[in-house]
Amino acid sequence: MPSSLEIVRIPALSDNYIWLVHEPVSGETMVIDPAVAEPVLAEAEARGWKITQIWNTHWHPDHTGGNAAIKETTGCHITGPAAEAARIPTLDRRVGEGDRVTLGGVEAEVLEVPAHTAGHIAYHLPSEEVVFVGDTLFAMGCGRLFEGTAEQMHTNLQRLSKLPPETRVYCAHEYTLSNARFAVTMEPDNQALLERVAAVEAARALGQATVPTTIALERATNPFMRVSSAEELAERRIAKDSFKA
Ligand code: ZN
Ligand code: FE
Repeated sequence: MPSSLEIVRIPALSDNYIWLVHEPVSGETMVIDPAVAEPVLAEAEARGWKITQIWNTHWHPDHTGGNAAIKETTGCHITGPAAEAARIPTLDRRVGEGDRVTLGGVEAEVLEVPAHTAGHIAYHLPSEEVVFVGDTLFAMGCGRLFEGTAEQMHTNLQRLSKLPPETRVYCAHEYTLSNARFAVTMEPDNQALLERVAAVEAARALGQATVPTTIALERATNPFMRVSSAEELAERRIAKDSFKA
């Protein structure tokens, strides 16, 4: 039965979203991928929440830059990918595929989703119908392949596509509009996609966020999830890398 968690979006840098997650029964509060510390500490304080944990999805500075300062201020415990521990010196706990992480009584399962970075992980909270995917899956897009292959990303996206369709997907960036404009060039006849693009353009014109998305929505409109092979994903990823929205 979702959802006991309160999940707050904190915009940071040019297009990052930091997720502040509060579990009211235990009073625990967790931060996913703090790019920076100040707005996170301010938001938690304004709500009267004490940050007890940070969960990182990968080592990139726009996902870990706030770790040290938040830990110094709150004494929180930091969990992140074992395979990237050397690049995240603030980690307390190193996790990998199948490990369980808890926020109060809520359990998350760790999924290894390498490709954007070699040790990238996601956190799936089945009881909440929530998944935090970092820079692996975006609304109508996927992460760049900095340290992995199209085969790996294809495996990741197919795996995520099999989560329950109502699962809410919390990505780490607002890339939706440029992803949407690329997506329609790949699937110009996809009616669900055309409707979504119109909705996204309207939302962004009003300055509204378009994340979280859902697995169902991505299955219907994401040109990287909807490929029939890793080769096709590779072609689309290369085309997107040079696409000017
Ligand atoms: Zn990244
Ligand atoms: Fe990022």
